[in-house]
Amino acid sequence: MSASLDRDDAVVAAEWLRRTRPADWRNPAPSARYDLCIVGAGPAGSTAAVHAARQGLRVALVERRQLGGNSLNWGSVPSKTLINAARSGAELPAVLSRLRRVRSHIAEHHSIERLQALGIDVFLDQAHFVGTHALRVGAVTLCFRKALIATGARPAPADIPGLADIGFRTSETIFDLAALPRRLGVIGGGALGCELAQAFAALGSKVTILQRQPKFLPGIERDAAEILSRALARDGVETRLNTAVLAARTADGSRVLDVANNELRFPIAVDEVLLSVGRVPNVEDLELDAAGVLRDPTVGVHTDDFLQTTNPDVYAAGDVCMRHQFANVAEATARMAVQNAFAGARERCSELLIPRCAYCNPEIAQIGLHSWQARERGIPIKSYTVFMADVDRAITDDRTEGFVKLYVREGTDGIVGATIVAARASEMINELSVIMNAKIGMRRLADILHTYPAQSCAIQLAARAFVRNQPIIPFEGGLQTV
Ligand SMILES: Cc1cc2nc3c(=O)[nH]c(=O)nc-3n(C[C@H](O)[C@H](O)[C@H](O)COP(=O)(O)OP(=O)(O)OC[C@H]3O[C@@H](n4cnc5c(N)ncnc54)[C@H](O)[C@@H]3O)c2cc1C
Repeated sequence: MSASLDRDDAVVAAEWLRRTRPADWRNPAPSARYDLCIVGAGPAGSTAAVHAARQGLRVALVERRQLGGNSLNWGSVPSKTLINAARSGAELPAVLSRLRRVRSHIAEHHSIERLQALGIDVFLDQAHFVGTHALRVGAVTLCFRKALIATGARPAPADIPGLADIGFRTSETIFDLAALPRRLGVIGGGALGCELAQAFAALGSKVTILQRQPKFLPGIERDAAEILSRALARDGVETRLNTAVLAARTADGSRVLDVANNELRFPIAVDEVLLSVGRVPNVEDLELDAAGVLRDPTVGVHTDDFLQTTNPDVYAAGDVCMRHQFANVAEATARMAVQNAFAGARERCSELLIPRCAYCNPEIAQIGLHSWQARERGIPIKSYTVFMADVDRAITDDRTEGFVKLYVREGTDGIVGATIVAARASEMINELSVIMNAKIGMRRLADILHTYPAQSCAIQLAARAFVRNQPIIPFEGGLQTV
């Protein structure tokens, strides 16, 4: 059994490499000049390359690691596979084996063959700028009319004395574990930390999650964060809020994290540490000065609303320049940058409506404004909440945790934001994305047929509550987020 699994795993690993970084790869001889040179082949870079090539542009795509970037290889794809498999009760070796299979399968969408078939010149090497219209890639220079920086981000380091000495994992190495850690310490209570803490608890690890701030997922509404805290505890995760890690050491064969919660100081013994305290943009190796591209102190590359850098012929997209670091944002900004660079478009990234989700159990999804953001902008809102415990499908499925909350601009029926905490919130939020983009108001939503029973009936119930409360509305507000 294990021999055949080993053989299968080896075949799968070879297929993944063949698609994302073939061992015998030789870079092509470069064209005299490219219309578009792209640095980084994650969701942003690959999307831009495909979009530009389909418009007949001469494109070079440069990647120093694996095609598909973080999302395919160390991010969304492996993490969602692990979460799903862990919930189904599988054991770690089976989960990791499935993860590699899934990653290799999806790698086909990003494969070198697919890019070559579109006429894209792929260079597997490190790139840096050597002028305003030139990149150095290995031994060759690529000249371009326009360039796109799509170099993404990497796990942020933490200034914790002793941590490097005892060794720790990040999202880039956690999926390579050989065995399930008996005790796992997760430093950081953002989406990645919470998702993986819950998944490893489901696999059987004793997980402790340490969050310096007073709530998990600091960017979400308080009532959603409270449900998440309860869900983590329910799933056996030891949750430590307002807790900072002061130092790390080894003692009696264990890794030990010395932590502080207000005045209280105490040690936590673990077998593995997952560090998940944010992500930093990859800009250091790019020699941005040579291209006249300014860095931004908070996001990596300074861009304007049209994704143009301080060099008008160099654009940026994805994690390297966006506050919202998600694959869907990377793809959308990449397409936008190509449109703005070549089609004379003036698409603004501030106009993007971004549905986003933390894949915890239950899932927590959001779109548009939070209540406090509406307050800060002086937008008067009313909220309409439906609890999943009142939704028939949630009851039939015994998944009654959570709620749907819609924020509506007062005096209109236009939705300006929403938070959903529910099983499959990641799917439900897409209905709101369509509704808000199509400027459909609460009155129409209340009458649009939904299947029965369905989780998304909760969204319609919220709209019906709105109609009951405000039977006469003079006009449909549509999308009013700014
Ligand atoms: C564990 C985890 C789970 C996640 N889950 C989700 C999720 O569920 N949903 C979601 O939307 N997002 C998720 N994300 C975020 C998502 O992966 C990123 O937002 C997305 O990958 C960003 O795409 P990108 O193209 O901007 O950058 P990346 O995917 O990081 O790609 C950038 C590429 O540029 C290459 N590169 C960098 N510098 C150079 C250079 N000088 N020369 C050549 N190449 C270079 C890198 O090697 C890399 O391959 C997750 C992230 C992590 C870590």
